[in-house]
Amino acid sequence: MHELPVTESILKIVLKHAKLNSARKVVTIHLQIGKLSDLEDDWIQRYFDYLSKGTLAEGAKLKIVRTPVVLQCHACSRSYEAEMERMEDWVCPECGQKAGTLLSGREYTIKEMEVQ
Ligand SMILES: [Zn+2]
Repeated sequence: MHELPVTESILKIVLKHAKLNSARKVVTIHLQIGKLSDLEDDWIQRYFDYLSKGTLAEGAKLKIVRTPVVLQCHACSRSYEAEMERMEDWVCPECGQKAGTLLSGREYTIKEMEVQ
């Protein structure tokens, strides 16, 4: 379970921003999570509900969007989006090379939040 520490750090950032904006309540938090990440939406919300009790973010709804997996080809340096379901088929559309460096797909970011 890596959801707990991740959710803790999300909550920390959210509360910091809420304070900076003199918010009374955090209503919605838009998160972007890479498709390759094994964080489960349900668990993040569950941990968030638990951790945010008694804070400005209590009851906030998490809206999670999965961001694509992006690779950079080792041969020609082109970056391209890959389907995670077919990891063994990841091939550069430019030159056909199979090896690539993962540029994104595992990260998580807070895109936006709505406050009152
Ligand atoms: Zn290539």
